[in-house]
Amino acid sequence: MNPSGKAGQQPLEYTIQEVSAKLGVPVHKLRRWDSQGVLVARRTDGGHRRYATEIIDGLAGSTLGAVTDKYQDELAIARRTLQEKRRIIQLLLESESRYRDLVETSHDLIWTTDGLGRFTYLNNGATDIFGLAPRDLIGCCFFDFEARPSHISNRRFLLHLKRHGEVRNYVTRLAARDGSDRWVGINARVSCDERGKLIGIRGTARNITEQHEAALQIEHLATHDSLTGLPNRVSLQRSLEEALRNGGVGAVLFIDIDHFKYLNDNLGHRAADQIIIGVGGVLGEALTDMPSQVYRLGADEFAVFLPDALRPHALQLGEILRDALRHYRYQSAGMHRISGLTASIGVALYPFHGGEVPVLLSNADIAMYQAKDSGRNRCVVYDEEAHTLRRIHSRVQWSSRLREVLDEERLVLFEQPVVRLSDMQTVHREILVRIRDEGGNIVLPGQYIEAAESLGLIQELDMRVVELLLQYLAHPDHRDQKIRHFVNLSRLSISDPQWVRRFQNMLANSCVSPNVLVFEITETAAMSNVDVTQQFIRELKQMGCRFALDDFGAGFSSFYYLKRFDVDYLKIDGGFVRDLATDEANRIFVRALCDVARGLNKQVIAEWVETREVLKILTDMGTGYGQGYLFRRPAPLWSVGQDQEAHRAGG
Ligand code: C2E
Ligand code: MG
Ligand code: MG
Repeated sequence: MNPSGKAGQQPLEYTIQEVSAKLGVPVHKLRRWDSQGVLVARRTDGGHRRYATEIIDGLAGSTLGAVTDKYQDELAIARRTLQEKRRIIQLLLESESRYRDLVETSHDLIWTTDGLGRFTYLNNGATDIFGLAPRDLIGCCFFDFEARPSHISNRRFLLHLKRHGEVRNYVTRLAARDGSDRWVGINARVSCDERGKLIGIRGTARNITEQHEAALQIEHLATHDSLTGLPNRVSLQRSLEEALRNGGVGAVLFIDIDHFKYLNDNLGHRAADQIIIGVGGVLGEALTDMPSQVYRLGADEFAVFLPDALRPHALQLGEILRDALRHYRYQSAGMHRISGLTASIGVALYPFHGGEVPVLLSNADIAMYQAKDSGRNRCVVYDEEAHTLRRIHSRVQWSSRLREVLDEERLVLFEQPVVRLSDMQTVHREILVRIRDEGGNIVLPGQYIEAAESLGLIQELDMRVVELLLQYLAHPDHRDQKIRHFVNLSRLSISDPQWVRRFQNMLANSCVSPNVLVFEITETAAMSNVDVTQQFIRELKQMGCRFALDDFGAGFSSFYYLKRFDVDYLKIDGGFVRDLATDEANRIFVRALCDVARGLNKQVIAEWVETREVLKILTDMGTGYGQGYLFRRPAPLWSVGQDQEAHRAGG
C-alpha cells in the first residue's frame, strides 16, 4: 500500500525514493534540491520527505527530463572541450620543451632584446661569442662588445634594422671579454606592439671567425703573389679601376728586370726566387714615404701604381727605382754574387694613355717593350707615335694569341722537299710550322717565332711540332718512309734542361726510328751557348738522330766554330744562294763553304734555290742538296688538311 494515499486510489504524494526512480535523480541530490529550495518536499511527522505527485509526474513527463538531458549534453561537450584543451596544452608543453631543448643546445646564439636593444634572453651560444655566461649578459647590448673597426658599420646595421624591420647575414667584428676578436654573422628581426611601436629585437648570431678568415685568406691568395707577398695583377687592376672611376690623374709603371732569364738559367730557380723577393723589397723601400704601391705581375715583372702623378713625377720615380736596383746586392750560398741589377721600365699615364684598365695596362706593357728595344736599362713613357709601335703591339697581341693557339691546337705542319741535286730526287723534307688563325688563314712563323721566344712560349711550340711530327710518322701510312725529316729547334728549347729531358723521353717512347729525324739549329743559336749545344747534339746523336746547322753564314765566325759542332748537314743561308747568279762575293763564299764542308765530311744543303741559273751554279760547285721554290713551295705535311684532325680524333 502506498503510505501517502488510501488503498486503490492514486497516491497524492511520492516518497523520496519514488521521486528518485521517477526522475532518475539520485536521492542525495533530491535532498540537496530540497534544502536549496529547488524542489521542495513536505515533511511527515516522522521527518520523511513527501513530494506532490502532480509536480513530480509533471516533471517526469516533460521539462526536467529535457533539462536533465540538456545538462547531460552540455556536460559531455564541456568534458570533451576540457579533454581537448588538456591535449592541446600537453602538445604546447611538448613543443615548448622541444624548442627550449633546441634553443638551449644550439651552437648559434639565440637572443632577444627589449626596445632599447638590451638583452632579455640569450642561450648558451652567448659563451662562445662573448666569453660570458648568458645571465651575465642580460641588460648588455651587442655593441658594448664591438671591436673598433666595426663601429660605423654597426650604426648602419641598427639604422637598417629600424627602417626595414629585418637584417640578414650582417657580418661584424666583436671583441670577447678576454679581448680576442670574433667575426659574427647576425640575423635580426624587430618585434612591434599592435600600434607598431618597437618593443624588442630577436634573432640569431653565429661565430663565423673561421669561415671569415678562410674567405679572407682565399681573397688574399687571389690578390697577392705567393712568393713575394706583394699584391698581384688582380689588385693592380682593382686599384686602377677605382682610380679611373674617381677621375684624376696618375701613372702606372711596368718594371722588367733585364736579362733575368740569364740569372734564372745560370743560378737556378731557388736563387732566382730569392732575387725576386729581394727586388720586391728594394722597390718597396725605394717607395717609402710615397703614396704608391708595388705589385708583382709575374716572373720578373713588377708594377708601381702612382696616383696623382704627371709625367715628370713618374719619370723621376722611374729613375729612383732604377737607382735602387743598381745598388741591389745578392750573394747565394753557392757563392754566386749579383751586384746591381738593371731594369726596363715603361710608364703609362692615365687618363691620357687609356681611360680603361686593359688599354692602360697594355700601353704600360708596350712602353716597357719600347724601353727594352731601345737598349734596356731605361725608363720610357708610352709614345703612341713611336716608330717601333706597330711591331711591339704585335708582340703584345701575340702573347695572348699564341697561348690560345697552343691551347686550341691550331698549329699546322707544312713541309718543303730537300732535293738531291745529282739525280733531282726528294730525299729529305724540312718541317715548317704554321698557325691557323681564327679566320682559318695560315700565318707564317716570321710573325710569331720571335714573339714566342721573348714570351717564353717557344719551348712549348717546338715540343708540339715534334709531337705532331711523331704522330704523323707513327701512322701506318707513313711508317715506312725512308726520307729524313728536318725539324727546327729554338736555342731557348735546347738550352732548357727540363725541356731536353722531356724531349728525349718523348723520342725514346715513340715507335719512330730516330734515324729519320734531323734537328736544325741556327748558327747564331748554336754559338750563343756552345757548351750547351754540344752537349745536346752529343746526347741526341747517341740516340740516332742527326743535326743540321741552319742559316749557315748568316752569323759570325762561322768557319771558326764549324769544327766544334758535330753536325751532319750545313744549310747555307738563303741570302747567299738566292743571288748567286749575280753576286760574285756570294759565289766565292758558297764555293769556299762547299770545299770546307767536303773536307769536314758534312753534307751541304743550299736554301732558297729559286731559279735554274742558281741551280746550275750549285750543281757545278758540287753542292749536294738544294731546297727552294724552284722545286716546290712549302705545303701541308698531310696532303688533305683534315687528315691531321682525323688522325688526332682517332687517337
Ligand atoms: P728556316 O728554317 O731557314 O726555313 C726556311 C724558310 O725559307 C722557310 O720560311 C721557307 O718557307 C723559306 N723558303 C723556302 N724556300 C724558299 C725560297 O726559295 N725563297 C725564299 N725567299 N724563301 C724560301 P718559313 O716557313 O716562313 O720559316 C721561317 C723560319 O721560321 C724558319 O727558317 C725557321 O727558322 C723558323 N721555323 C719554322 N718552323 C719552326 C719550328 O717548328 N720551330 C722553330 N723554332 N722555328 C721554326
Ligand atoms: Mg730551318
Ligand atoms: Mg734556314
